[in-house]
Amino acid sequence: MKYRSTRGGMAPLPFCDILLEGLAPDGGLTLPETLPALDADTLESWRGLSYAELAARVLGLFIDDVPAPDLLRMTQAAYASDVFPRIAPLKPLRPGLSLLGLSEGPTLAFKDMAMQFLGQIFEYVLARRGQTLNILGATSGDTGSAAEYALRGKRGVAVFMLSPHGRMSAFQRAQMYSLQDANIHNIALRGVFDECQDIVKALAGDLDFKSAHRLGAVNSINWARIAAQIVYYVWGWLRATGKPGELVSFAVPSGNFGNILAGHLARRMGLPIHRLVLATNENNVLEEFFRTGVYRPRPASRTYATSSPSMDISRASNFERFVFDLVGQDAGRVRALMDELRRTGEFDLSDLKPQFTQTYGFVAGASSHADRLATIRAVHAESGVLIDPHTADGVHVAQAHLEPGIPMLVLETALPAKFSETLVEAIGQAPAVPEDLRDLQQRPQRVEIMDCDARLVADYVGRHAL
Ligand SMILES: *Cc1c(COP(=O)(O)O)cnc(C)c1O
Repeated sequence: MKYRSTRGGMAPLPFCDILLEGLAPDGGLTLPETLPALDADTLESWRGLSYAELAARVLGLFIDDVPAPDLLRMTQAAYASDVFPRIAPLKPLRPGLSLLGLSEGPTLAFKDMAMQFLGQIFEYVLARRGQTLNILGATSGDTGSAAEYALRGKRGVAVFMLSPHGRMSAFQRAQMYSLQDANIHNIALRGVFDECQDIVKALAGDLDFKSAHRLGAVNSINWARIAAQIVYYVWGWLRATGKPGELVSFAVPSGNFGNILAGHLARRMGLPIHRLVLATNENNVLEEFFRTGVYRPRPASRTYATSSPSMDISRASNFERFVFDLVGQDAGRVRALMDELRRTGEFDLSDLKPQFTQTYGFVAGASSHADRLATIRAVHAESGVLIDPHTADGVHVAQAHLEPGIPMLVLETALPAKFSETLVEAIGQAPAVPEDLRDLQQRPQRVEIMDCDARLVADYVGRHAL
């Protein structure tokens, strides 16, 4: 299997050659030249597999330059019970509506599902090539901690994660800064998230510095993350159905369009998915696209800080991969649309609107802070289950798209313990913190605090890079 770019300007490459790269050289995103097919017999033969076994089968469809036994060893390590005490359980809320529990990993959010595999495959490929890699990133919370927990202690890779000093929750700080592994470097900058991000861009954009220190990234456009996310759609379908061909709908709290893109690919591969229900918060750029056909990202100044903060995005970095399919995989048309986006700040695909639902199964909705609170309250009253604000966005929108006889699975993208403030506002009580994290905030913390100055960060990376 070879990979190509959505913009058509990359010679096809095998999986291991695109794994460590971010954007394709032409500025596009990588995708398989042809999607593997999932037929009914194959799916039925997978019903008895463990999550790690299923992951090795599904990922093996996309990764043919790693021997199958090695892949299985990696998925067994990534999805071991000491990493995920429970792995992607179905949590029924009411007949026909369940959560797919993707947040049982070390950082209590769904990004662990893909990132734990990424940690394994990065270490494997770097060792095979005798290379090292220094991951430089900026985080306001979730992505940074998922990356650190996935890469801690891994050989050949170090992580330099910039975060805004004093601007993350006490829980998030404790989660990241309590890591004592020598290859994890937390750098808290006296500034805001955007300034951290600007410094990452400046250093990664300095090509001499970048190649001298072998800088890399683990952002949401990484293909291995998308591929690892396809696994849990297959897993969820197998758990929610009993017979070949039965339909399931999935509702997905969305920001960068990474999670739901994996659902789109699973559906195109032949997994019997009825609807892909895209849920946004007040930052409804994607909901607006599915309603109008116009994609109009917003400037940071019009991106609201909401109570589902991991969905507070203005530009959906994985969206181009879906657009590629929408325009019939015409790379020239994708290039033209991206040019138009750069020139005018938007593009218009309203002529294709009939296909959004008919061909691709997408429907969309948005929710407000009040909707989240009401949904958290109602789900708790009805089923006794506590959900986090992001999952509440998913449940809220899913409710408008329930259809008799078709199970709806809402992807649980975080556990409520991470967002106790909103939970207290909704139901007047704080959610329980998992046992092994109760002492988290008492653990010693390891963080380098600096002024917001790219030279200071460059100097630190220069002295500590592998
Ligand atoms: C990252 C994140 C999302 C959004 O996922 P995308 O793949 O960016 O669409 C939703 N909820 C939580 C809790 C997240 O951390």
